[in-house]
Amino acid sequence: MSDRPLRLRFAPSPTGFFHVGGARTALYNWAIALREGGTFVLRIEDTDEARNQPEWTQGIIDALAWIGIDTTDPHFEGPYFQSAYAEQHIAAATRLYEAGHAYYCDLTGEQIQERAKASGKQGYDNYSRDRGLAPGPGRVLRFRVPAGTTVVHDLVRGEVEFDNANIEDFVLLRGSGSPMFLLANVVDDVTMRISHVVRAEEHLPNTPKQQMLWQALGELPPVWAHVPVLVNEQRKKLSKRRDKVAVEQYRDEGILADAMVNYLMTLGWAPAGDTEIVPWSEVVEHFRLEDVKHSPAFFDIKKLNAFNGEYIRAMSVAEFIESSAPYLTSDDVPWPRELFNPVVFDEMAALVQERVSRLDEIVPMVDFLFLADPVIDEAAFTKVMAAPNAVAVLQETIGAYETAEWDADALKETLEAIGAGYELKLGKTQAPIRVAVTGRSVGPPLFEALVLLGRDETQRRLRGALSRFGDAGA
Ligand code: GLU
Repeated sequence: MSDRPLRLRFAPSPTGFFHVGGARTALYNWAIALREGGTFVLRIEDTDEARNQPEWTQGIIDALAWIGIDTTDPHFEGPYFQSAYAEQHIAAATRLYEAGHAYYCDLTGEQIQERAKASGKQGYDNYSRDRGLAPGPGRVLRFRVPAGTTVVHDLVRGEVEFDNANIEDFVLLRGSGSPMFLLANVVDDVTMRISHVVRAEEHLPNTPKQQMLWQALGELPPVWAHVPVLVNEQRKKLSKRRDKVAVEQYRDEGILADAMVNYLMTLGWAPAGDTEIVPWSEVVEHFRLEDVKHSPAFFDIKKLNAFNGEYIRAMSVAEFIESSAPYLTSDDVPWPRELFNPVVFDEMAALVQERVSRLDEIVPMVDFLFLADPVIDEAAFTKVMAAPNAVAVLQETIGAYETAEWDADALKETLEAIGAGYELKLGKTQAPIRVAVTGRSVGPPLFEALVLLGRDETQRRLRGALSRFGDAGA
């Protein structure tokens, strides 16, 4: 690593929801800054006016805070806004021009294409390199790419060599005089004394150009680290059109921040030991860029949910109840607000906690407790009731539950005895009761739910289900 003060940066463009890949890159930077006592600079690269929206910037800041990257932490610096530094970008370009590292070119896009067609080669042919054009309206400023090779020392990828002959003299300032992204990005990194650029692999092709700019500006390039792209199940790069990539969406669905952070850190890196579920403090202690793999990392939503389930189960019941509150009190709950009873929920909470992998699964698991009538899943109802003796079990249960002791053990034993008469195991015997009372064929432990619902309501629902069978229900 370089011996400059350790300064890392995260430099998102605010063009949409906060991408999980961006979150992972931010965390990699953050973990290093924390362990090594370095600084994490947040720079919002907001120079693409057509695509940037201020609300996306706030979204990034909020999502970073959610994953623990807190603007008030002493390791945090910023946010800086790239758009505020256009003057410095232009001044740097002027210095490059004056030192002979850049030149003006007056070819239009069409002229460049025509020349390419005529020569059979692609791209710009460095036509204006030695024409000595002065600055002027409509003229772009291009970087004079030196001959030779550019070797990028990358902590993740190793040494990556680029033949400069394949790199055209790229544009630094547009014809309008406004700075191009590559220039702005490098000048900001130089000005902010960034020592380590840790970012997504898609920027690797830009790196030789950026390294040449650092050198032409008289600076020692930073340490580079390009981390692998995230791919979906089909091994295609995660894209916001195709895949669920927004951190905000996972947060709203009830992925816990700690689970998300832990899972993101394991994409391309694995903690030593036999479990990937490790607390953040351990990640900070052990994470090394040198250990990041360079093959694409599969963003596996099932695995994320499994991580989340583990984190949910590691909570105390009180914490689980607290985390459930926003879901139970949201505007989208299916029950009338006045029917919600927090005492009943608290009684069920420990059982629900065992069974959900995301917090948004809580409401459908307990809704029957707070609805005047359960919403019957008709397909499940039909299937369960078509099983041999299901209706007879239902009918007998109503009779037996009239007088059974109203506690979970007694209700279970009663039902077991009824099932035994039909040679049914408990699972099969429970099925018609569950679907009648909860509307679904899966849910929390049945007998505890019946206790909370009470005898009268349970019986009313069982009878309601039976009455669907006409005479059989008489
Ligand atoms: N603003 C760029 C992006 O969001 C990042 C560039 C960089 O990290 O150097 O893709």
